[in-house]
Amino acid sequence: MSQNEHIKKLESKLNDVNGTIEEFEVNPIIIEYKKLLLEKKQLENEITAQTCQIELGRIKKCQHYILAQYNLFKPSIKYCIKCGLSTDVLTSYREELNELGRVRYDYLTETGLIGINNGYCCDPDLANEIYTRIKKANPGIDEKTAIKYFEIALDNMMSIKVHNERIRSRAKRLDVNPSSIISMYKK
Ligand SMILES: [Zn+2]
Repeated sequence: MSQNEHIKKLESKLNDVNGTIEEFEVNPIIIEYKKLLLEKKQLENEITAQTCQIELGRIKKCQHYILAQYNLFKPSIKYCIKCGLSTDVLTSYREELNELGRVRYDYLTETGLIGINNGYCCDPDLANEIYTRIKKANPGIDEKTAIKYFEIALDNMMSIKVHNERIRSRAKRLDVNPSSIISMYKK
């Protein structure tokens, strides 16, 4: 078969396929299916738009309480313990983000993360765990008090850390196991 004959054969096949597609396009079930796909897309878009609006309202309304997270591989990230807004989102390109991410990205580039910053540093997951537990343990607690409790918890954690570091360095100096010093403290 010559190349031209081969092309003709392919074209005739393509015509058949196109004919079948045209038949399908006027089929009521296919028409209904396409209508449903369009409706699905519209509903999804509407839900996303509403969700973005709620998120924007939530972060705009929040009186941010800001903490920092230091990471060896990234510049220091700041985040709000109350609404979860984090400058981490700015380390991505805007185009890479989903709609919710873009709402946060735009807010941070336009307004920045401004609020109370008492200079605390904590891993965001840990901070979130502490804050959530405080709110859960004290139902109906106002945000100001919750933040106060939160700072106390962080201060306690820091002093335990310093205390343990002291124990470790003392153990090293005395050349003993740190647990023997801890049991000494407990007596
Ligand atoms: Zn906030």
